[in-house]
Amino acid sequence: MKITVIGTGYVGLVTGTCFSEMGNNVYCIDIDNGKIECLKKGIIPLYEPGLEELVLKNQSKGDLIFTNNLKDGLDNSNICFIAVGTPMGEDGSANLQYVLDVAKDIGKLASHDMIVVNKSTVPVGTADKVKATIMQELEQRNLKLNIEVVSNPEFLKEGSAVEDFMRPDRVVIGTGNEIVIGILKELYSPFTSNHERFITMDVRSAEMTKYAANTMLATRISFMNEIANICEKVGADINNVRKGIGSDKRIGYNFLYAGCGYGGSCFPKDVKALIKIAANNGYDANILKEVEALNNQQKLTLVRKIVDKFGENLSGLTFGIWGLSFKPETDDMREAPSVVTINKLCELGAKVRAYDPQAMDIAEKYYFKDNKQVEYAENKYDALDKTHALLLLTEWKEFRSPDFEEMSKRMINRLIFDGRNQYNKETLREIGFEYHQIGNGYKG
Ligand code: NAD
Repeated sequence: MKITVIGTGYVGLVTGTCFSEMGNNVYCIDIDNGKIECLKKGIIPLYEPGLEELVLKNQSKGDLIFTNNLKDGLDNSNICFIAVGTPMGEDGSANLQYVLDVAKDIGKLASHDMIVVNKSTVPVGTADKVKATIMQELEQRNLKLNIEVVSNPEFLKEGSAVEDFMRPDRVVIGTGNEIVIGILKELYSPFTSNHERFITMDVRSAEMTKYAANTMLATRISFMNEIANICEKVGADINNVRKGIGSDKRIGYNFLYAGCGYGGSCFPKDVKALIKIAANNGYDANILKEVEALNNQQKLTLVRKIVDKFGENLSGLTFGIWGLSFKPETDDMREAPSVVTINKLCELGAKVRAYDPQAMDIAEKYYFKDNKQVEYAENKYDALDKTHALLLLTEWKEFRSPDFEEMSKRMINRLIFDGRNQYNKETLREIGFEYHQIGNGYKG
């Protein structure tokens, strides 16, 4: 099939690349000329395992074309995916400006019938707005075209985006048009051949499904953090409690980890957006408000433990930081707990020496620019030189089994504040480390 994908971020670039890998001809469009120039040269502007290889392969075959010329894409395709950002607006609602700008451009440039598939996460009712915007532009051009606007929310995870797209748990399509369903079923068939999880529904339910999925996952995390905070008060260990409840099939083990909060470009903004969508429709989303409040509080949980230990004035102290990205296998730092944690430590007078396998350039360029209290280290051990404690903020695999002897040699104190519960408390105690976890109040 011939496809245009508008937006070459995490979702658009992966979508376009994976469709081209299955033999489709794909135009990937972005208004960011810098990004397009990089992609044309085979430089991938984001880190995602397995992506670079697929981009280069399909680009060289001519099946994956990068351009800022939307007309070229639309003239050469029948299906157009919208995958632009829907960032958080000032009042917490999803900012639809980019999606509606794209709709306008489609209306101005389309020259034949088209299926427009929205992959961006958008409030219920957006498909109608996109259709109305396109139709308005076509009317001005006195052009009558058949444009079907469909919702196809994306569920890929950063860090395993290619794998998730290639083997999705499900594909959700929101439309009442049987012909469109048939075409999209065929397009997605190489990705869903092992199961029948191609789920069709009305467009509004599809739009709502994405928010429901992300807010459910965020709720599980905040719920576990709440239980962890109670564990600390009552002398229980969240690591044991997790095993105890995860074994229940109705609950399951996934997404049951307590920690120093969730971040990323999706959960925080989607929780906020659904609270706003509910409020705009006369409903108070109390659970979601608490999920958000608890997460904001949780991002500072390690700083609170540090203040308990050292007091409010941290000047003269240096903390080693392992992990800056909001989760492993990505360089994305949007809403990462590391940003809140490091800024607070600096505000209290401390210095930090940070190491992350992928996110240090982004950290230096966008998050701690001109902050002289933040230094960056070549590797995880250098980040510990003359530090008073280590804070583990992202559970990258390379932090799982470190050389504790080497760490002891580098650090002033044998002291770890672990925001991701990566180590065994007893083992660390035996080798002389003071070790603080999230939700482990067990004193035995
Ligand atoms: P992103 O910010 O990484 O990328 C968006 C891209 O769209 C940017 O490159 C931007 O330049 C481009 N763009 C903006 N306006 C444009 C226009 N008029 N024409 C062409 N390009 C334009 O965003 P993302 O993380 O890929 O997310 C995209 C959408 O998918 C969001 O709604 C997000 O909530 C949703 N989503 C994201 C993820 C994820 O893990 N990142 C997962 C599922 C769904």
